[in-house]
Amino acid sequence: MLMKKERELIVEYGKKMSGAGLCPGTSGNVSIYDSETGLMAISPSGIDYFSTLPADVVVMDLNANVVDGGRKPSSEWALHTEFYRHKPYARAIVHTHSVYCTTFAVLGMPLKAVHYAIADAGAKEIPCAPYETFGTIELALAAVKACGESDAVLLGNHGIIACGRSIESAFSLARNCEYVAQLQYQAMCIGTPNVISGAKMDEAIEKFRSYGQPDSGKKGY
Ligand code: 13P
Ligand code: ZN
Repeated sequence: MLMKKERELIVEYGKKMSGAGLCPGTSGNVSIYDSETGLMAISPSGIDYFSTLPADVVVMDLNANVVDGGRKPSSEWALHTEFYRHKPYARAIVHTHSVYCTTFAVLGMPLKAVHYAIADAGAKEIPCAPYETFGTIELALAAVKACGESDAVLLGNHGIIACGRSIESAFSLARNCEYVAQLQYQAMCIGTPNVISGAKMDEAIEKFRSYGQPDSGKKGY
């Protein structure tokens, strides 16, 4: 079986994404990219995260060829391949429909630096891409265009995509974005949130680069 370890991680992190409440039903998807072989392991389309087995995970190249696996790949395979092309350091991608991020995506409003944890994205805000139909190259191109320096971007009227140097980092970033989105929403319900200054966010972004244990493969919380 090609990419056995990565397939097992896709199954493990799919359950984490679903268990953390980030992916209602079978929404969302997750992939891991091996830059040496140029192959990507991606979750299958529409299979419950707790029923997905390593054999259900699909191995593709970045040109949409299925190299291994009998299932239909995630309908968002192009969103994932475009991100790997655009962010050459990315080794994993998590896409979710988490409620608070999607609330801001519905409003077309970026996530602001209402909490410094947004620095996990390597940017001062999480931008929002315009709405495009799910599973299309137009969605993939809009997301890549809107993300800029950020490792995460809201997808208008849809959800969020986050990338990382490891699956752990990509998952953490998706969870941190949801945390910041919930704070921003709650703060806006009762007042006007204070947004951290650009200079202070630069400091936080720098400190996040060395946060935690060296060589843990994980960046951020
Ligand atoms: P898949 O089940 O095909 O991965 O689609 C879920 C989704 O979130 C589409 O945007
Ligand atoms: Zn989606």
